[in-house]
Amino acid sequence: MRAFVDQDLCIGCGMCNAACPEVFELNDEGKAEAVADTTDSNHDDVMTAIEGCPVSAIREEE
Ligand code: SF4
Repeated sequence: MRAFVDQDLCIGCGMCNAACPEVFELNDEGKAEAVADTTDSNHDDVMTAIEGCPVSAIREEE
């Protein structure tokens, strides 16, 4: 699976990067991007990021 961040919704709070830095990085515009696939080892952290995003900007797809 892979996480995607809606660039129009993201407010750049950095929470997802704090929860799972291996997947979420902030880009030059200060918005988060998913830079790696969701794996068995980081799935719980990705879910923490998805559930904790204050603007529900993150979704996960197969
Ligand atoms: S938690 Fe949500 S709003 Fe905050 S940086 Fe990540 S995607 Fe953007």
